[in-house]
Amino acid sequence: QVPFATPDEINAAVASAKAAFKTWKSTPLAARMRIMLRFQALIRENLPRIAAVLTNEQGKTLADAEGDIIRGLEVVEHACSIGSLQMGEFAENVAGGVDTYTLRQPIGVCAGITPFNFPAMIPLWMFPMAIACGNTFVLKPSEQDPMSTMELVALALQAGVPAGVLNVVHGGKEVVDAICTHPDIVAVSFVGSTEVGTHVYNLAGQHGKRVQSMMGAKNHAVIMPDANKEHTLNALVGAAFGAAGQRCMATSVGVFVGAAKDWLPDVVARARLLKVNAGVQPGTDVGPVISPRAKARVESLIASGVAEGAELLLDGRGISVPGYERGNFVGPTVFGGVKAHMQIYTQEIFGPVLITLNVATLDEAIALINANPFGNGVGLFTQSGAVARKFQSEIDVGQVGINVPIPVPVPFFSFTGSRGSKLGDLGPYGKQVVQFYTQTKTVTARWFDDNTVNTGVNTTISLR
Ligand code: NAD
Repeated sequence: QVPFATPDEINAAVASAKAAFKTWKSTPLAARMRIMLRFQALIRENLPRIAAVLTNEQGKTLADAEGDIIRGLEVVEHACSIGSLQMGEFAENVAGGVDTYTLRQPIGVCAGITPFNFPAMIPLWMFPMAIACGNTFVLKPSEQDPMSTMELVALALQAGVPAGVLNVVHGGKEVVDAICTHPDIVAVSFVGSTEVGTHVYNLAGQHGKRVQSMMGAKNHAVIMPDANKEHTLNALVGAAFGAAGQRCMATSVGVFVGAAKDWLPDVVARARLLKVNAGVQPGTDVGPVISPRAKARVESLIASGVAEGAELLLDGRGISVPGYERGNFVGPTVFGGVKAHMQIYTQEIFGPVLITLNVATLDEAIALINANPFGNGVGLFTQSGAVARKFQSEIDVGQVGINVPIPVPVPFFSFTGSRGSKLGDLGPYGKQVVQFYTQTKTVTARWFDDNTVNTGVNTTISLR
């Protein structure tokens, strides 16, 4: 059971963050860095325990749960360098005896709203960097699986994050709306579906907040006939069905160029071999989807694909897992002959379903992908550098993998989904998020000493 916060509790959390900001904002950088260093050590020590909690509440395999935590841990490690990340700039002598420099100052109470699919990584995209920059934070984890997030928050407090600096409220739409409209919250970072992310972006924006919304996706993989067949097929099947397809960077569309279409039966054969079982069971490849509602939605989209004339090459509906007969399982599903107007192409399925299309040329593949409204991730499989270079230049998607199936950037870069997958210009973590969580103040300064020549009153705008 998850206790949803009442309006009074939300106000209390924000008030505590606002009060803590008064002192936290001027806590020395080194003190903030030391807390992050202790936090990363504690996450590492507690990783097996938290991974077990995550698998139990979310359903992904234990190995994938560890990956979920480790990708978040890397952001905490990066936050340990906040001293150099938050440095300003300095230009000497911009005019005679005048220097200009910038300060990157924390902005106040920031908030984060996170989805169910990465209950460790995505909260860790947000609060460590926000706090390391000198802000205080109110986190609203997914109500579907908040337990591993709470374990991480407890470790942050144990690492020395002072009372009031990091606060958690649970809830759904009402709590999210209260965050987006709260007068004392200055910035909102959201990760989740396009529908909710657009609502959050608009509502929080109308209430004067900085907002970044990382949203839904339809990630294509383009397979050229010259690609390394074994590596490509393994990458494609792993990226389509891992985490039961519930990754925002999962490969959900295979685009086979020319003769590469002959590899489709091999994709189906590999997908068929994947073991569907509870995430806690050793040897599981594909765990359950998050809820009965999610399962019903995935199955109804599969039915729509059949009704609209796509070829169902592997059907994962109706599978029963011994010992977990009431589980929300959908087995790997593969469609061939998909057309761009079909619902299975236009909608994010967010389940273990790979849809495939055939095109004649690379240009056709690029045009198809650039016409799709989403822009989260894309992959290209080829052995040609010239093809890869053309693709990275012409493709209109924010994160490109070249022979890499799930190109989520490491934390010294930023997550850079684009177009329909993102609202707001700055991404989470990396240098971009330091900009998101700070206000740049530019100081232009001149100092006089007793020998400075008196140049009289100056009524122009130039600096002399
Ligand atoms: P969701 O949008 O349903 O929920 C996200 C958050 O919004 C949760 O905290 C939830 O409580 C809250 N919420 C739900 N309904 C709401 C409403 N009507 N009004 C206000 N708040 C509401 O998303 P989800 O199902 O938890 O996560 C899956 C989605 O997240 C997928 O679309 C996936 O692509 C996307 N996602 C995107 C990224 C990315 O970086 N682009 C990363 C992970 C997940």
